[in-house]
Amino acid sequence: MAEKAKNQKKDKKEITNAWLKYNAKQLKEVDQLSDEYIDFISECKTERECVDKIVSMAEKLGYKDLAKVKKAKAGDRLYAINKGKAIVLFVVGTEPLEKGMKILGAHIDSPRLDIKQNPLYEDTELALMETHYYGGIKKYQWVATPMAIHGVFCKKDGTTVKVVIGEDPSDPVVGISDLLIHLAQDQMEKKASKVIEGEDLNVLVGSIPLKDTEKDAVKANVMKLIADKYGIEEKDFLSAELEVVPAGRARHYGIDKSMVMGYGQDDRICAFTSAKALFNCTSTDRTAVCILVDKEEIGSVGATGMTSVFFENMVAELMDKCGDYSELKLRRALQNSHMLSSDVNAAYDPNYPSVMEKKNCSYLGKGMAFSKFTGSRGKSGSNDANPEFIAKLRAAFDKHNVFYQMAELGKVDQGGGGTIAYIMAKYNMEVIDSGVALHNMHAPWEVSSKADIYEAVNGYEAFLKEI
Ligand code: MN
Ligand code: MN
Repeated sequence: MAEKAKNQKKDKKEITNAWLKYNAKQLKEVDQLSDEYIDFISECKTERECVDKIVSMAEKLGYKDLAKVKKAKAGDRLYAINKGKAIVLFVVGTEPLEKGMKILGAHIDSPRLDIKQNPLYEDTELALMETHYYGGIKKYQWVATPMAIHGVFCKKDGTTVKVVIGEDPSDPVVGISDLLIHLAQDQMEKKASKVIEGEDLNVLVGSIPLKDTEKDAVKANVMKLIADKYGIEEKDFLSAELEVVPAGRARHYGIDKSMVMGYGQDDRICAFTSAKALFNCTSTDRTAVCILVDKEEIGSVGATGMTSVFFENMVAELMDKCGDYSELKLRRALQNSHMLSSDVNAAYDPNYPSVMEKKNCSYLGKGMAFSKFTGSRGKSGSNDANPEFIAKLRAAFDKHNVFYQMAELGKVDQGGGGTIAYIMAKYNMEVIDSGVALHNMHAPWEVSSKADIYEAVNGYEAFLKEI
C-alpha cells in the first residue's frame, strides 16, 4: 500500500533529471563507466589512437579482423579498420544481412591544430612549428595553455613511428603564446575572430642553441632531439600526421563530481558509448554494427570520412563471408537498416541563455539527446528523421527506462551544425541524430554529464535490443 502511494506520488511529477532515478547500484555503475571514459579520452586524442584502443578492447572480447576470417556466421564478432583512422565493428545476426542492420555511428576526429608539412623554423633564437587548425575553433581559446603533440611519422622505409609528447608527467608540454595584457591595447579592440589569426598559431618548441652550429642553432637542437628520440630526419615531417592537442588528462568536474571535463568529447563521448553498447551485445537478430569515422569536423570527406565507400565495401565483404552476397542484397541490407547517428549536442548553458530556445534544447543530466533535424537557416543540410522511426525509438527507450530528450542545436537562425546522418540516409535507411549534450563544444576542454554518458550506453543497448 505504501509502495502504491509512493508510485502515485511519483506519477504526479515526471522525473526528468536522470540523477534522481538512480539507486545505489546504478550510481556505482555511473561512476565506473565515467572512470573508464575518463581514461579513454585521456589516452585517445587522435583518430588513430581511438582506433588502436577500440581494437584492443574488441580483441579482448573475441572480435576478429574481418580480413583474416574466411567465413562468417551468426554470433561472430568482427572488425575492419580503414587506414588506421576509422573502424567498423559487427556482431553478426541470426537474420540474413539483407534484412538490414542496426547501426551505431559516431566520429573520432576532433578539433585541434595540425602541424604543417614544413613546420620547423627559428625566429630570434626560438624554435617554433607552423600549424593549420582542423575543424571549427575559436582560435583565441587555444593559446596560453599546455599542449601535447600526438601523431605519426611515416618513413620512406615503410615504417610508422608513433609520437606522443606532453602527456607523461615527466614530459615537457608545448604551446602557443598570447600577447600580454599590458601591450594588448590594439588587440583588445579586434573582434574575437581576429584576436588570434590562423597563421599566428605557431607552437613554441625550444630555446637552447646547439653548440658549434652557425645557422638556426636552436632549431637544429630541437631537430636533433626529435631525430634521436624517434629515429627520423627533418624531411620525414613531409609524410607525418602530427596533431597539437590540449595536454593532460580529463578530470571529474564540479564539486559534486557529476561531470567530466576533457578534450575531444566531440565526438569521442558518442564513439565510446556506442562501442561500449556494441561490446555488451553478444547475440542479435539483425546484425549490430558500430561505425566510427574520421574527418567529420571537416565535412566527412576523404577516404576515412563517412562519405567514403569503406562502410559499404565492408558490408559487402561481410555478406560475401556469410556466403550471401549479391549487389541487390547489399542494396537491401543498407536500405533496410536503422541508424543512430551520434554526435554531440549543445547543452543549455545558464551563462549563454540567449542562443537557446528552452523548450527545444538539451540539458546536462537529462539523458541522451535526439535531434529530429540539424542544419541551419531552415534545416539546410540536415537529415530529417521520420516520425515513424522516432516513435519506435520512444517505445524502445521507455521499455528500458532510458532517459532521453528531444533537442535542437540552439535557437533558429543562431547558427547550427551538420553531422554524418544525411550521408547514411542516402542509402534510404532510417537515421536519426542522437548523442550527448556538452558545454564548451569545440573548446580545448569540453564538459559532459556522467549521467548522460550512462544513459547513452543504456539507450544504445535498448536500440540494439528492440529495433
Ligand atoms: Mn564538432
Ligand atoms: Mn561532432
